[in-house]
Amino acid sequence: MPKSKSIVILGAGESGAGAAVLAKKQGWDVFVSDMGLVEDEYKFVFERKGIVFEEQKHTLDKILAADLVVKSPGIPDSADVIVKLKAQGTSIVSEIEFASRYTTGVILAITGSNGKTTTTSLVYHILKTANYNVALGGNIGISFAKNVADCDYKYHVLEVSSFQLDDTSSFRPDVAVLLNITPDHLDRYNNDFNTYVDSKCSITSYQTPEDAFVFNDEDESIHNWLMNNEVEAEMHPVKPVLVDGKLLVEGIYFDLSQFSLQGPHNIFNATCAIKAALQVGVTKEAIQEALNTIQNVAHRLELVDKIEGVSYVNDSKATNVDAVVQALNAFEQPIVWIVGGVDKGNDYASIYPLVKEKVKAIICLGKDNSKLKAVFEDDYAAFIEVQSVGDAVKKAAGWSVRGDVVLLSPACASFDLFKNYEDRGDQFKKEVSAFAKYKG
Ligand code: ADP
Repeated sequence: MPKSKSIVILGAGESGAGAAVLAKKQGWDVFVSDMGLVEDEYKFVFERKGIVFEEQKHTLDKILAADLVVKSPGIPDSADVIVKLKAQGTSIVSEIEFASRYTTGVILAITGSNGKTTTTSLVYHILKTANYNVALGGNIGISFAKNVADCDYKYHVLEVSSFQLDDTSSFRPDVAVLLNITPDHLDRYNNDFNTYVDSKCSITSYQTPEDAFVFNDEDESIHNWLMNNEVEAEMHPVKPVLVDGKLLVEGIYFDLSQFSLQGPHNIFNATCAIKAALQVGVTKEAIQEALNTIQNVAHRLELVDKIEGVSYVNDSKATNVDAVVQALNAFEQPIVWIVGGVDKGNDYASIYPLVKEKVKAIICLGKDNSKLKAVFEDDYAAFIEVQSVGDAVKKAAGWSVRGDVVLLSPACASFDLFKNYEDRGDQFKKEVSAFAKYKG
């Protein structure tokens, strides 16, 4: 029997574990290596499938001997092991590249700086409602590779990050959706916005004229990129058109009276999702039913409760300024804004006019609020610093009156006071519920 080809999976998180399982199933000689600790859930998978792995180290001679390396999106190109692999010319791919080589299913891939999870969930919900044989995967939960290993799904709806696109060499979505591009993760792109733009737009790199490219027609960065680069796929620019409250997409009217996602950005996300679904033949009736039944995604403009006429909204996933702009624009009512955390290079001055127009009080929930202070403190009678969600909710309640919105939309990462954005959002929901009980 010929010797199996060897594959090394670097990083044993969700995508690495999925890639390992798929590789094993496809007959590769698999070795998984992680510099950190491997979670029990994945250890269990490796042991059950007979996959060799190591944790808290990289055994270089074993890694450098691989025929192919699958790299976790979390590992930067500057990591020592990657530098060495590149120097000797080893082929390195991302998990989505690897998985795509083993499926004949139709791929709908969604990327962008903001709105990926929401739009991916919506596309999936539409295809599910239409009774398609479809899997949801990528950044959003279960890895694409695991879905491919599990079952030969006819459709894969994928949330794709720029890091995963960076190591592709044939990944060809039948439908690619590019929502928007605003500065984010620039630390991974030598602080060069153009490199980040190239990365996002590379979702089109291997598409052919039979494929579709759905993109934001009003995004300047995408437009600039399109002026200088060729796309082979059929182009589907998106600019939402509302006629008498109905959404008009490709000549079809969709009723939004039961659509529960709030804000103009979600109308845009819905338009992209509808366009994507139409490309794979979903009927207008199924799309309408899906729009009527989609549930709000947790931590994204999620209405937690209404207490004494004040709406408490959890937008903990808003970790950059652009997401906050969408959140502030989603409400007509005065806003008490809970903001702060670990700043990823925010320019608050750019949103100063919008904040002044929409926000009546600012509650800073972070260890270091100096940048927020410098821009807003002098202009707000209510500029309050707190260190816990409980205090944030109490102060926000104190500064709001019937008809207002208390909005947790932090513009920042959460690692100073929380485990992650879910933890921050969950704590907010808990405190709001406790406050609702207290108010009785
Ligand atoms: P991602 O998966 O790209 O992080 P999410 O769907 O989780 O996106 O939403 C993250 C944040 O971005 C939320 O605060 C949400 O309100 C905001 N958002 C959602 N869609 C858009 C959009 N099309 N443009 C800008 N911001 C958006």
